Amino acid sequence: MQWITDLLLLFFPSNCLVCGKRLHSHRAVLCFECEYKLPKTRFADRIDNPVSMIFWGREAVVAGTSLFKFEKGSVYQALLHDLKYRGNRMAGFYLGRLLGQELKQSVFSDCDLMIPVPIHRNRLKKRGYNQSELIARGASEITGIPLVNNLVIRKGKSKSQTSMNRQERFDNISAAFSLGKRPRNFKDKKILIIDDVLTTGATLEACSHTLLEHFKCFVYIATVSYA
Ligand SMILES: [Zn+2]
Repeated sequence: MQWITDLLLLFFPSNCLVCGKRLHSHRAVLCFECEYKLPKTRFADRIDNPVSMIFWGREAVVAGTSLFKFEKGSVYQALLHDLKYRGNRMAGFYLGRLLGQELKQSVFSDCDLMIPVPIHRNRLKKRGYNQSELIARGASEITGIPLVNNLVIRKGKSKSQTSMNRQERFDNISAAFSLGKRPRNFKDKKILIIDDVLTTGATLEACSHTLLEHFKCFVYIATVSYA
């Protein structure tokens, strides 16, 4: 898919998204220094980490991890913002590859397949891509874990959740996911769910719930950042 990368380069200047320094690799989004300074969690190495703990007592998630911790006002906000709102697909592949490096040689590398958290088709049409899928593609390239799309689909937009309590939030968002076209049997499979940002965990919890409702599988979670 080299031609896609080349095409993207026409639209996105190859300067570091954080400091603006000229980049040497056309597949990078950050310069070496900014990549080095990314506040990586290294959570993939241990199951009992703060991201896994978010799901304790909620859904049967075996383990969770995030590439880096997001701090308010962080210069790395630009990465996530560009990916989600400014059509920067390269940022997605790039972050996915960085995430993949963290997952490699950890318990996560034993997963049988990975799925991106789906977005609703109207949003997909509007945005042109699902940012979680781009991340998953990058991570899949590095780890070799196959990417399966549309195993879980997003049926509708969930309502604004600001005035809801935790149970109401869960019910609201759970209703937004369902199983896609009748898939193969994923019994006993280890399924890794990929998303861009983890905050309350409600979206990932609901997505896990949809899987666990239908398959006796094992759910793992990996996101680019957590707040
Ligand atoms: Zn930089």
